[in-house]
Amino acid sequence: MSHTNLRQSLNWRRFDCLAGIISLAAIMIGATVVMAATGPSRPTKARTRGAIQLTYLGNAGWRIEDGHSVVLVDPNLSQFRNKRGTDPNNDKDEIIAPDTAQIDSRVHRADYILITDAHEDHLLDAPYISNKTGAVIIGHETAANIARAYDVPDEKLITVRRGEDYDFDGFSLKVILSLHSPLLRKRYFNKPWAGSAPRGLKAPLHESAFVEGGSLAYLLRIAGHRVLIMGTMNFIEREMEGLRPDVALVGAGSSRKENFDYADRLLRALGYPAVVFPTHWDSYGSMSEEEATRGVQEFVTEVKVASPKTRVIAPQYFQPISLP
Ligand SMILES: [Zn+2]
Repeated sequence: MSHTNLRQSLNWRRFDCLAGIISLAAIMIGATVVMAATGPSRPTKARTRGAIQLTYLGNAGWRIEDGHSVVLVDPNLSQFRNKRGTDPNNDKDEIIAPDTAQIDSRVHRADYILITDAHEDHLLDAPYISNKTGAVIIGHETAANIARAYDVPDEKLITVRRGEDYDFDGFSLKVILSLHSPLLRKRYFNKPWAGSAPRGLKAPLHESAFVEGGSLAYLLRIAGHRVLIMGTMNFIEREMEGLRPDVALVGAGSSRKENFDYADRLLRALGYPAVVFPTHWDSYGSMSEEEATRGVQEFVTEVKVASPKTRVIAPQYFQPISLP
């Protein structure tokens, strides 16, 4: 059972069931206009508090920006393509390629792309986006090796392991060791897609080339915010302790239920962040939109029970949400 097998076509245009974020989008548009009018003045150490905008791109994908930097996380616009996946029995190891039309319609600028694991639903689009925008891909060695297969040059790759805490122009980034979602009733690590990719690959690649290579989380400090970024439905509790994010993107897919006391342990370790966004809840395409919506609302309830003061925002695709 691969991600291909699990995928079904998912039409975002019809996906309008979630909480009304549109008014926030209007606020964000206003904020963008103001920023465009004043122009970015790039502070050397942009640590004073300012607004950030987060936009859900589907799957584990996000755009996070502060008017200076545009940071993408696991962009996977290709999931919206209509090409495969309508056949749930499709388990062929196909050659896969990013949907460049989808990407071009949604991604016009990026400075950095953070990769949490190298499966196709996290990494497939990043090499194309890097080559198109000049964005630097930050990920582990497997992610870098797959990006190299698409001719991403080394100056556009930052290979990380775990524990790095790097300073960039306008933000800083802590790299956190994590664990992949316990798919297949905890048998995920029995499978070859939990492995790593060597150097020397050459695109086009089959789906099976997109192996995990390990899972990472990130703490992005930007505009005075601390944003915890997860790309999976698992974590290492001691790695989360003391991070104290004010915003957390938390894996909310159903495989989280394989873990003991997932939301409670995580939120306690993080110090009960003010805002939580569910992520990676719509995909593998293994469920209908209705099921996905029900699933994410169930997760929202779990977070509210575990952390009653936390504001939980189930995002809508491509609707920017501004946090002051
Ligand atoms: Zn994965």
